[in-house]
Amino acid sequence: MGLLRGPLLVVIPGRRVAIRLAAASVAAGLFLGLAAWWLRPQPAAAPFAETVPGRVVAIDPGHGGPDPGAIGVTGVREKDITLAIARELQQLLHRSAVYTVMTRTGDHDLIQGERVSHRQREDLRRRAALANEAGVDVFVSLHANSFPSPVWSGAQTFYRDGDEESRRLAVAIQTALVQQLGPNRRTARPADLAILRAVEAPAALVEVGFLSNPQEEQLLKDPAYQRRLAAAIAHGIFVFLSGQAAPAAATAFEPAGDGPRAYPLQGP
Ligand SMILES: [Zn+2]
Repeated sequence: MGLLRGPLLVVIPGRRVAIRLAAASVAAGLFLGLAAWWLRPQPAAAPFAETVPGRVVAIDPGHGGPDPGAIGVTGVREKDITLAIARELQQLLHRSAVYTVMTRTGDHDLIQGERVSHRQREDLRRRAALANEAGVDVFVSLHANSFPSPVWSGAQTFYRDGDEESRRLAVAIQTALVQQLGPNRRTARPADLAILRAVEAPAALVEVGFLSNPQEEQLLKDPAYQRRLAAAIAHGIFVFLSGQAAPAAATAFEPAGDGPRAYPLQGP
């Protein structure tokens, strides 16, 4: 303030004008001070490169083997889509020095050459056990949605109900999916799913899109779109692992309108 006032008073002859300009200089000083405060250097968020290497992520491509999952309108199988995206996601995570545990790497489930009752339930139990025994930091299950009506589309992420860490993970992934692949009004939602209940680590299930929507089915089988999905999911995982996922208060937000929200899930 003082610095501004001196030179102004020197060049202004009239007292009233001088006072007015002095007031203006006070305002300018306040403005500059506020601007400096507003533009002050922010404490930098830890970059992913410092926080994610060495962490362990379980990737669970849904279905496999005798269980194709949902079938698209032109015959695209959920089990093939989830495995393709899982492979892309694995590569991206490895590139950032993140370890991965894949629950399957081929077209099979975790029940091979055995006779078990409740095959699907046992398959899910083994997928969770694999991740739990490896002590993973994060568990991400990949699925594709299907619904009787062809109009629904868009990726949506689910989390274990009542688990704040899982919710943060799911919100981080859903946010990245919406930002990188939108338009998509879906939000991360809680869900009571066997696979999420059985996993000890923060766990999310990503429904990457609707195979029952003809346009989305075509996208989901496109390797370039699969890579974009994987990149968005990887980004969400990095945000979570870096501790940058938004706390509950910042995400207690529901979009206005009556657009589609959660839908019945295929599989688990
Ligand atoms: Zn599924």
